[in-house]
Amino acid sequence: MANDYYATLGVRRDASADEVKKAYRRLARELHPDVNPDPETQEKFKEITQAYEVLSDPKKREMYDLGADPFASGGGPGGPGGFGGAGFPFSDIMDAFFGTAASRGPRSRARRGRNATLRVELDLQETAFGTTRELSIDTAVACASCEGTGCAPGTHPDTCETCHGRGEVQQVQRSFLGQVMTARPCPACGGFGSVIRNPCPECSGDGRVRTRRTVKVKIPAGVENGIHIQLAGEGEVGPGGGPPGDLFLEIVERPHPIFEREGDDLHCTVEIPMTAAALGTSVTVETLDGAEQVDIKPGTQSGQVITMYGRGVRHLNESGRGDLNIHVNVETPNRLDEEQEELLRRLAKLRGEERPPGKFAPGQRGMFSRLRDVFNQH
Ligand SMILES: [Zn+2]
Ligand SMILES: [Zn+2]
Repeated sequence: MANDYYATLGVRRDASADEVKKAYRRLARELHPDVNPDPETQEKFKEITQAYEVLSDPKKREMYDLGADPFASGGGPGGPGGFGGAGFPFSDIMDAFFGTAASRGPRSRARRGRNATLRVELDLQETAFGTTRELSIDTAVACASCEGTGCAPGTHPDTCETCHGRGEVQQVQRSFLGQVMTARPCPACGGFGSVIRNPCPECSGDGRVRTRRTVKVKIPAGVENGIHIQLAGEGEVGPGGGPPGDLFLEIVERPHPIFEREGDDLHCTVEIPMTAAALGTSVTVETLDGAEQVDIKPGTQSGQVITMYGRGVRHLNESGRGDLNIHVNVETPNRLDEEQEELLRRLAKLRGEERPPGKFAPGQRGMFSRLRDVFNQH
C-alpha cells in the first residue's frame, strides 16, 4: 500500500474515531499552511489531511483496512483527486478545527427525558381568574448516587472491545452491484461505544430513579378546556444524565351548573313569569363576581338576551374580559285557577287577541340556531 494513513497520523490501527480526530487536530495545528508556509510543511499537511479524510470516515476506513486506498487511483497528494481537487470534503477540515460537524461516532448515553402530560381539573371560577396549584407527579429524577452516569461510585465506563469505541460495526455484503458496505450499531455496547461493567446499584445503570415530586404551578386566567400549558424542563430527566423533558398540563374544565362557556363569553338562562316580562321587573342573577341585580324591561320577549359587558372570563394573556349573556326565558303560566283564567280571558278580549291569526315572524329560523340569532335580535 502506498500510504500508511495510520502511521501518517501516528495512531494505532485500532484507534477510536475520537483518537483519530484528536491526532489530526494536533498535527493540523502544527502544520497548517497559515502557521507554517514552507513547501515541505504544506506537503505534510496535505498528507495528514488525506489520511484523516480516509480514517475519519467509517466506510472509507473499512475499505482502506480491506486494502483499497481511495486516493491511490485518483492521483494521490497534489494530483487531480488529492488535496484541493474537486469534492474535497472541506467540511471535514472545518470539523477537525472547530468540531462543528455532526458526530458519526458512538451515540451518547445521555438522552433527553420524555415529556409528561398531566390532566388538571379546574372549575370555571379557576379558569376564569387563574389559580395556583400544587401538583404531585410521578417522575424520574437524576440518581444522586451516580449523578446520572449510571456507573457504580468510583468506576467509569470501559471502551467497548467489539467496536473499539466507535459504536458501530461495519459489514461487507456481496450483492449483484458488488460489495456493499453497511454499518449498524454495535451489538455488544448498543452503539454507545462503551460498556458499563459496574452499574450503579441505586439506579441499575439508568442514571435516574423514579420518585414522586411536587410542583407548584401558576395557571393563568383565561385557559380553557383542552389547552396544554408547557412547563419547560419539568418532565422526566433523561437516561444517562440527559436533560429533562417538558411537563404539559392538560386543562380539563368541569362543566358549570349555570354557565355555559363560549370562548371568553358566558351564557346563562333566566326564567321569568309572563307577567314580569310584560310589566318589567328586576331579578337577581348569579355572576362570577357574585349576585347582581338585573333590570328586565317591560315587554321583554322570550329569547331576548341581556348582556353584562366584562362579566365573562378573563382573556388569556391580555387585559379585559368576555361578556355574560343572560338569555331570558318567558314562562307561560299553566294550571290556571278559575279566577286567573277569567282575568286572562278578559285581558285577551281587551287586547283583541281572542283569535290571534298565528302570523309568521320575520327571520325566525332562530328557533333552530337560537344562540346566534338571539345575538342579532339584541
Ligand atoms: Zn445511579
Ligand atoms: Zn461496541
